[in-house]
Amino acid sequence: MARHVLAAALLLAVVLSGCSQSPQAGPVVSRVNPEATPEAPLPPPSDTPLTQRGIRWNHMPLTVYLSGDDPGYMEDTWEAFRMWENATGGLVSFRRVEDRRADITVIWPPVLSRVTGEHGLGNANTHFETFGPPSSPRTAMTSAVIELLTQSQQGAPLTHMDMTNVALHEIGHSLGLDHSTYPRSVMFTKVTTPSVSVNAPLEQDVAPLLPIYREKPRVDLLIAQGEASRVVQKVLTGDRHYLNIQFTVRNDGFLDSPPAELRIQADGRTVDERKTQEMKFGQRLNLSLRNVLAETAFQKVTVEVDPDNRIPESDETNNRLTLEVPP
Ligand SMILES: [Zn+2]
Repeated sequence: MARHVLAAALLLAVVLSGCSQSPQAGPVVSRVNPEATPEAPLPPPSDTPLTQRGIRWNHMPLTVYLSGDDPGYMEDTWEAFRMWENATGGLVSFRRVEDRRADITVIWPPVLSRVTGEHGLGNANTHFETFGPPSSPRTAMTSAVIELLTQSQQGAPLTHMDMTNVALHEIGHSLGLDHSTYPRSVMFTKVTTPSVSVNAPLEQDVAPLLPIYREKPRVDLLIAQGEASRVVQKVLTGDRHYLNIQFTVRNDGFLDSPPAELRIQADGRTVDERKTQEMKFGQRLNLSLRNVLAETAFQKVTVEVDPDNRIPESDETNNRLTLEVPP
């Protein structure tokens, strides 16, 4: 009897490794814990091996395009999206669209585009942008393509439960989650087919997503660096003082910014006011202004973006840069 159980278990094991392309995931084969059994106790949430490291989408709901021709498998997959939605209490949400430009596209190819581990049943190819200061970079997910096979490596068609389980795992990657070493986790590196049940995301699976998606994405405008110099023109009526300045405006927030006010002051007097263009998240703008007339000599120049705080930002303390002007 015991031998039958073991043989069955060996037949059923299917490896899903290498199915992640989140920026941190890398090769995953070594993450499989051969000692782990389904009876292993739940790890405390603080020890969860799932990693997120700040990667996030900057909007919800995420649009999902199911690009398949098997209504059953498409429904199984959509069910997996709904399960993530329920497990996160709606913090992560999805809307089904018929549009290839959706945030997440699901396809059912005959083979996977990339198998980095052994045999896999799915891939999540994620695209993202990293920006912000090197000391605390931010990563925004911009799109994902999930590939799901319809057959096991042995050629057996996947059951509806299999499809939902594999989709649950790949959707987890598309949300930025890495693998888990806990066998009951939907992010475990192996999925056993045929499935005996559909396994909803555990508290441990959801835990890394909550602090990230509870925080509303915001704009974060800042003046990163600059240089200023003064030019004096001698005229009959006295000296004319001009300011030459170059500086960088960045949007280090997760949200696009509408055009923002820019105010340039020389010794506290406004010498120039203008608007930036609309700035996408992560975008930087190098600006250079020449021959800005200042009425008198000056020693300090201040550049400020959104000086009247019209745009809600995650950090309101970095909008201003003061430059000393050499004599
Ligand atoms: Zn995976």
